[in-house]
Amino acid sequence: MKKELDDALCLDFPLLFRDRRGDKMKTCMVWGFCCGDYWEPFVRRIAEKLEPMIQKQIDGGTPLVDCLVASQVKSKFYSFRFYTDNFTEESFQIIQDISAEADKICDECGVIRDDKHSKHHRAWDKLQ
Ligand SMILES: [Zn+2]
Repeated sequence: MKKELDDALCLDFPLLFRDRRGDKMKTCMVWGFCCGDYWEPFVRRIAEKLEPMIQKQIDGGTPLVDCLVASQVKSKFYSFRFYTDNFTEESFQIIQDISAEADKICDECGVIRDDKHSKHHRAWDKLQ
């Protein structure tokens, strides 16, 4: 994902992405958002729901280290993956629902993914 989008996500959701500049021995978030730009809206939608949940945890007295935090965001085998630490049932469900929507869209070119489209990317991958 390009730097402007990455920076904006970190700026807008400082609690959820607090490990973006963390310790690379402890979190994969230091590698950034490892997917194409077209998945940024899905990352943002998840973040918009999760950020207030973290604020609520903090307000309720939960130490920050035990609060929900993004640990990895990436594309794996064309599938949208958004991992967190300290997840709750509610956050897990939100991520599942929005991930299912993201999976329908190609993160690299934004079109609706069908069988033919994923083959096009596989062929492209082989050339790299
Ligand atoms: Zn594509």
